[in-house]
Amino acid sequence: MGAWSTLEYIAISTESAVSGSDFYLTSVPPSLAEDLPESLRQYIDAPLKVTSSEVTQLSEIYADRVCLLDPQAEKELSPADAEAFDAFVFGGILGDDPPRDRTAELRKYGYQGRQLGKLQMTTDTAVRVTRMVIEEQKPLVKIPYADYPELKLNENESTQMPFRYVKGKDGEPYMPEGMLELIKKDADKSFDDFF
Ligand code: SAM
Repeated sequence: MGAWSTLEYIAISTESAVSGSDFYLTSVPPSLAEDLPESLRQYIDAPLKVTSSEVTQLSEIYADRVCLLDPQAEKELSPADAEAFDAFVFGGILGDDPPRDRTAELRKYGYQGRQLGKLQMTTDTAVRVTRMVIEEQKPLVKIPYADYPELKLNENESTQMPFRYVKGKDGEPYMPEGMLELIKKDADKSFDDFF
């Protein structure tokens, strides 16, 4: 599991534990399930469930109560959807720039789709925003966002992230713990690749 995904999944696990919801990682190959990073492993059972089954095979989830979070869906997610859905499915895929619509793979399941606006969010942001709409009953327009934020890497360099984030109380994009350091380290690595 990549370092970026690990940090996102830790953030989702932490927030799921606070809200009392389950967090399933589905279609996980057994070799990866056995080799999960220790930092993520501590969330197993509560709230994290790791399974090689596809989401459609989970007997506790009823297909007509599942919502696929899909940037291409016609309808926006709204607080009223809390009545309609019990489970929310997100693509466990990293974003790309420009987005390649890899969420398309999940449309084959036939779940009802909802979008969170047209801008691409990181997976943990999409989960966070869904939680704010469904659990806190906040409409999408009332959520403060940081779009394509510029992150300072050092004195001389910065990088623009091609995503929408939730804006934290400090006005900065809300990111999983350790993500900024990881982005800085990755930027150093790609710079070093030139030499
Ligand atoms: N570039 C990816 C694509 O091609 O679909 C986006 C992947 S995004 C990082 C990971 C997941 O977060 C998506 O599969 C989707 O479930 C959810 N997501 C991200 N932005 C979203 C949006 N604006 N509306 C609905 N879901 C979104």
